[in-house]
Amino acid sequence: MKCIYCGSEDNKVLDSRNSDESIRRRRECNSCGRRFTTYEYVEKIPFSIVKRDGSRQSYDAKKLKNSIVLATAKRPISEEQIDAIVSDIEKNIQNKMMQEIKASSLGEVVLKILKDLDIVAAVRYASVFKNFQNAEDYRNFLNSL
Ligand SMILES: [Zn+2]
Repeated sequence: MKCIYCGSEDNKVLDSRNSDESIRRRRECNSCGRRFTTYEYVEKIPFSIVKRDGSRQSYDAKKLKNSIVLATAKRPISEEQIDAIVSDIEKNIQNKMMQEIKASSLGEVVLKILKDLDIVAAVRYASVFKNFQNAEDYRNFLNSL
């Protein structure tokens, strides 16, 4: 990032703010001392989620995040970690240039990440995602680990 006044590339970030589409950074040039703002746009390719009944809905990052927040409640997993998981999953799907992903595949991806991170969260996530009905379902899942 070059200073818009003197062209120096030596600057520090004073403040960053994330919105859905961009990251706004307030910078101060280390050469001339002036301040300027830069915007970095995150290019996102939209993709759809194919539900069990075959219907499609556009991917919603908030929904995905909420499902992980619920599963990890009171577990030693920070919101930053959850945001990182969500953005890793998105990047992965976008790198593969996929235009749609099955809800069940997406769930398996989340489950795999949670299994490595925190087993309690993984069991909770699985119970919702796989719609566990009884102790037997839990037992089968735990046996599969
Ligand atoms: Zn400057």
